[in-house]
Amino acid sequence: MIPPQRIVVVGAGITGLATAYSLLTTTTQPIDVVVLESSSRIGGVIRSSPFGGLNAVDEGADAFLSRVPWASTLARDVGLAASLTSPRAVGAHVWHNGLHPIPTDLMLGVPANIKSFATSGLFSSRGKARAALEPLLPRTTDTKDCIGYVVRKRFGREIQELLVDPLVGSIYAADTDNFSLESVPQIAALMNQRSMLLAARSTRSKTPSTGPIFESPIGGMESLVTAVAKRIQELGAQIILDSAVTQIEKSKDSAYVVHCANGTHSADAIVLASPARHTAPLLWQLDPIASQHLSKWFHASVVMLTLAVPRSQWKHSLTSAGYLVPKPDQRWVTAVSFGSNKWAHWKTPDDAMIVRASVGRDGVDTQSLADDAIINLTLADLKHHLDIDVVAQETRITRWPESFPQYRPHHFARLAEIEASLALTAPHVHLAGASYRGIGIPACVQQAHATAQAILQS
Ligand SMILES: Cc1cc2nc3c(=O)[nH]c(=O)nc-3n(C[C@H](O)[C@H](O)[C@H](O)COP(=O)(O)OP(=O)(O)OC[C@H]3O[C@@H](n4cnc5c(N)ncnc54)[C@H](O)[C@@H]3O)c2cc1C
Repeated sequence: MIPPQRIVVVGAGITGLATAYSLLTTTTQPIDVVVLESSSRIGGVIRSSPFGGLNAVDEGADAFLSRVPWASTLARDVGLAASLTSPRAVGAHVWHNGLHPIPTDLMLGVPANIKSFATSGLFSSRGKARAALEPLLPRTTDTKDCIGYVVRKRFGREIQELLVDPLVGSIYAADTDNFSLESVPQIAALMNQRSMLLAARSTRSKTPSTGPIFESPIGGMESLVTAVAKRIQELGAQIILDSAVTQIEKSKDSAYVVHCANGTHSADAIVLASPARHTAPLLWQLDPIASQHLSKWFHASVVMLTLAVPRSQWKHSLTSAGYLVPKPDQRWVTAVSFGSNKWAHWKTPDDAMIVRASVGRDGVDTQSLADDAIINLTLADLKHHLDIDVVAQETRITRWPESFPQYRPHHFARLAEIEASLALTAPHVHLAGASYRGIGIPACVQQAHATAQAILQS
């Protein structure tokens, strides 16, 4: 009888759990899957907890994109179909000396027609005139791998600073003047045609406009990782918590020995689904050069402040899903979500407004601030933006240190070098997760699936 293939997955975030799920649901061959997690819980940066009288309010991700199949299909496959819901279509704003509705007809901030900025109060007449020139400009040939550089060059400063940077920046906690264009494929694809605006228009016309754009389980995003974990355990996987992997070495029979806090595991294949900065030391013995490259991967830190604001303090006019703050206007807060407007199921028993404020981004240190300072700075920003004096009836601070990998220019070229090196020095050791090919939950699940296929095919 052939002995089962032994696969060790490092990290029980969505990537590690989804990799185990793909492995176990794709093959009929006997496999042993062990997921080793350093912390005492599964989910990584996905966490939901009781707040404001509700059972689950997300402390991190609150929605996944459902126009791409990965997360949505996984959620349905693990039995969450009936619990999926979508945000209300209440629009959102950009704060720039006041709240301005985010124009419609955009591709991640890139205008898909002239109307999308011509009628907006967000831009000056000069900014609009500059942006309107874009379709007339010659093709950009000196494409630097930097979103800010390319968008400024095509549309001018205002579209970059007031639309693209806040929209992309809020997804990646990024400064798009130091962020790879290639790693945001929706925008990179627009560079294939002469005009980005015309390319965005043509892409949008082919995108189905029906069906929800985002989804989330009503029990909180953590219920997705819980359901995946339950399913993989039913299929025979072991998830071992409090077992930080400390070292990986080759064994004599061309397999690997994985050392962790509470023992060792033999493995024929390993999936490193831990963030790059944690993965770097694990590769030191196997591939010092790959390890050194990964140790330089930069990750931004953010703090999520959740507030329950009594309805009596809330302005009736604030009916949207929230707002983004462009870099030139930022003090501390980068984005604010009016959660109870956005999600019908975030209606608290006493009708308080659940507000989630994101503080910090790439280049702005927030981790050294004390809790009191974070609360005071956020409340001061809310007063400045909305002219309301918030005295929250409940407050929750979630710190997410080094949680957003930053894809610096030429990210994919560096990743290709690392993976090519690993293929030679450490065959069957794979990298997957937010540090590499997309940080959204769907991109993590897609990487998990691709990694599982690669292992099973080899
Ligand atoms: C505040 C916030 C809001 C977000 N909002 C959204 C959103 O709305 N929609 C969306 O799609 N995405 C969102 N994201 C992004 C998305 O949640 C993450 O990119 C994704 O969950 C990362 O999953 P992962 O499994 O790759 O990594 P992680 O979740 O970081 O998991 C990695 C795991 O590896 C473990 N680990 C590390 N080192 C070791 C070791 N040596 N041994 C064993 N285990 C180890 C860690 O403890 C962790 O559990 C958000 C992220 C944050 C932080």
